[in-house]
Amino acid sequence: MSARRLSILGVTGSVGQSTLQVIEELRGQGSELEIEAVTAGGNLAVLADTCRRLRPRFAAVADPGQLVAARDALAGLGVEVGAGQSALEEAGSRPADWVMSAIVGAAGLAPTMAAVRRGATVALANKECLVCAGPLFIQAAAQYGARLLPVDSEHNAIFQVLTHPTRVEKLTLTASGGPFRTATTEAMAAATPDQACAHPRWSMGRKISVDSATLMNKGLELIEASYLFGFPCESIEVIVHPESVVHSFVHYTDGSVLAQLGSPDMRIPIAYALTWPDRAHVSTQRLDLAQLRSLTFEAPDTVKFPALGLARSALKAGAAATTALSAANEVAVEAFLGGRIGFLDICRIVEEAMELLAGGGAASIAKSPSSFDEVAAVDQAARSAARRIAGNLAAA
Ligand code: NAD
Ligand code: MG
Repeated sequence: MSARRLSILGVTGSVGQSTLQVIEELRGQGSELEIEAVTAGGNLAVLADTCRRLRPRFAAVADPGQLVAARDALAGLGVEVGAGQSALEEAGSRPADWVMSAIVGAAGLAPTMAAVRRGATVALANKECLVCAGPLFIQAAAQYGARLLPVDSEHNAIFQVLTHPTRVEKLTLTASGGPFRTATTEAMAAATPDQACAHPRWSMGRKISVDSATLMNKGLELIEASYLFGFPCESIEVIVHPESVVHSFVHYTDGSVLAQLGSPDMRIPIAYALTWPDRAHVSTQRLDLAQLRSLTFEAPDTVKFPALGLARSALKAGAAATTALSAANEVAVEAFLGGRIGFLDICRIVEEAMELLAGGGAASIAKSPSSFDEVAAVDQAARSAARRIAGNLAAA
């Protein structure tokens, strides 16, 4: 059998580096895996180390100003180097059978769509591109024959146990509760970016770590699950499960409930997406049930964590509202990480931006976008609204 060709969008990130580890482990077991393309937002030292290990044909960096530095960093490795938006999209359009979509934020949409338009198998870690362009993204995958394999651990868990999709009563997404599960509102108001990023179970990039602290991550995942699996908002519940051992549940019409369990390690869903419908040997920590002793579950506190309610309202309002929610949240998280606003301001900004956009205007969120250009317009309108609100809060 000829070698499989893979590409990794966002290779220098947390998911990208876990993907690198899985590929190296499988190569060590004799799998023939060639790397077509990789992309990076920055961090040339990690990109150079990754290229030395993976030997891709093409590497793209996001910033056109980094082209010369990237060529220098990758000199002698036989890697063709590109920079800027067109290079990121070229990485997605190069002929790889399997593409890991692990750029963070809506920036991942265009490169991922380049892979979708080729009919590639797309391992989808980047939830924002789905939340941003949901129905259009799913339609495009169907139209071009692209297979979407969920990598987000909850969605990967559901995918693993979704044996009878027409016999499902309900999905339950598990949430760790994040670092502020037991914190007071006062402590949350004063939280620093480092405190918000200190996730108790998972080691992840800073944006998703903040999203986990606000529970917006679970809100985005609720929307992701609805678009991916085709279930309405009302059929998807969220339960806080601090141990992060059960990665989600599917409830069937006969009363059976199936779940997938495992250590909180992204190499498990990444390997599943890479070897599906088979499985691989991956050296992740095994579950020791006797040592675990018990698993706990509790209802989320939707007053302390308003993000879940905001996400539910957006999902019910329609596709433009979910585009706006994700874009406003990206801006708010960036402002928080930059030290310009407080932790509790994140959800305030998202809520106010949604209210402003619901008021109508050129990029009203009342109507679902019918093209990717319309998605981009709503995304931009939400970003401007969120920037304005964040600016006012920072100045207050
Ligand atoms: P990360 O911040 O660690 O890495 C993001 C990657 O995207 C890096 O390679 C970075 O250089 C690149 N990037 C950032 N901005 C870019 C831009 N504007 N243009 C091009 N490239 C850019 O993030 P992560 O934790 O690996 O998460 C990646 C995606 O996977 C996110 O959408 C996240 O929600 C999702 N996800 C992550 C985890 C996890 O455990 N880390 C779990 C589930 C889902
Ligand atoms: Mg997740």
